[in-house]
Amino acid sequence: MTDVQTLVKTLDFQLDIQSDNESLLYDATLESRWAYNETIRLAKEGVDWDEIPDRVAANADLVKNTTQRVVAKALGAMENYHEYDDFGLPSHTKDGAYPLRANYEEGYNLTVRDDGTIEFRISTRPYKHVKGVLEGDDAHIDILRAALASDEWTIGTTEALFHDETPELHVNVTNTERTVRDKQDSRTVIGVDVNEDNVALSALSADGVEDTLVIDFPEIKFERHRYFTMRKRVQNAEKPSIHDTLEGREARFVRDRLHKVSRHIVEWSQQFEKSCIVFEDLKEMRDSIDYGTRMNRRLHHLPFRALQHYTSYKAAFEGIPTAWINPEYTSQRCPMCGHTERANRHKKRFKCRDCGHQDHSDRGASVNIAVKGSKKLDWNVPALNSLPQVRKVRRQASGAVDAPTVTSDTARGHHSDGIRGVSD
Ligand SMILES: [Zn+2]
Repeated sequence: MTDVQTLVKTLDFQLDIQSDNESLLYDATLESRWAYNETIRLAKEGVDWDEIPDRVAANADLVKNTTQRVVAKALGAMENYHEYDDFGLPSHTKDGAYPLRANYEEGYNLTVRDDGTIEFRISTRPYKHVKGVLEGDDAHIDILRAALASDEWTIGTTEALFHDETPELHVNVTNTERTVRDKQDSRTVIGVDVNEDNVALSALSADGVEDTLVIDFPEIKFERHRYFTMRKRVQNAEKPSIHDTLEGREARFVRDRLHKVSRHIVEWSQQFEKSCIVFEDLKEMRDSIDYGTRMNRRLHHLPFRALQHYTSYKAAFEGIPTAWINPEYTSQRCPMCGHTERANRHKKRFKCRDCGHQDHSDRGASVNIAVKGSKKLDWNVPALNSLPQVRKVRRQASGAVDAPTVTSDTARGHHSDGIRGVSD
């Protein structure tokens, strides 16, 4: 059975509020709390639920539509018994802020500026607006920008709230045209191993590993190190504005490259039957105690997560589902015999201390990720008797794909039909 899933996302942003209007928004979240409590109070009094929205709206110092959203939330909570205490009565009488809920183009608005930043405008009270610029994760900014530009997307309700005293906006977006295939329905699992200077992809089907591709992007690593040095220099010279400019330039460069790489990953994945793209959930690793220096280094390189997210949402656009697995041992496990030992891996070389299998270490990791992904989908994982030749491509700074580079780090003792190149 194919359970088609509509593309729905909640995008989180921080609000850079113009002038000193932050208190306006804060007051509105207090008013939102009042509307919530008042709804609960009226419901407790036995007032007809149909009458509650208008009665609360008449006294709330909020735009009517926003009040209605808050009332609906409170009534919904009562309906689900979340607001009842042990005596069977609603218990909710809290103080403090409550998210300001609003409908798009009624309680809030979003506009993409010429420089690509997104401006928000939230109605806190009738004729009182809070304006400014959205800040946050590049991937979320990009999705929202795309959503605002396309009829395929619906911008839904938002919640404005304070998180650790920082004002935030959580926006719901829905893609009405595209659907993502149910991942249980997949026939190929694509393991994606993201590293500082490359990404390794392996496609696993019921017949074994179909193909492997390593996309090298040494210029991302190089540029990040170069910018890092430059930033350090101007930092010492105490020129914060130059420092910020460099940071922006670097971010744009890296983002642009990562977008190209993520597009490449999705295009490569599309050639296989019903693929599901599998990533390591690096967040999960942070809670684990011993994950070694490789993982430690990777966690501190933000672009990994950005690349995963860019790929995930581009894949969703093409209907390709994604899955996330725990990264534990993916780089130390032998994909052929399963023997797991840290000494198996030495930089980009993998040599199993048990069966002697040799491989490009990142490819090995991508196979392990695919195997974990297939287990997550409840597959009977096929026994791997051989692995295909590793294909390598290199992304140049121009964005073009270079001729395939020959490497000695490929699987030995298995079929070696030479290195084939791909281009796009
Ligand atoms: Zn082995």
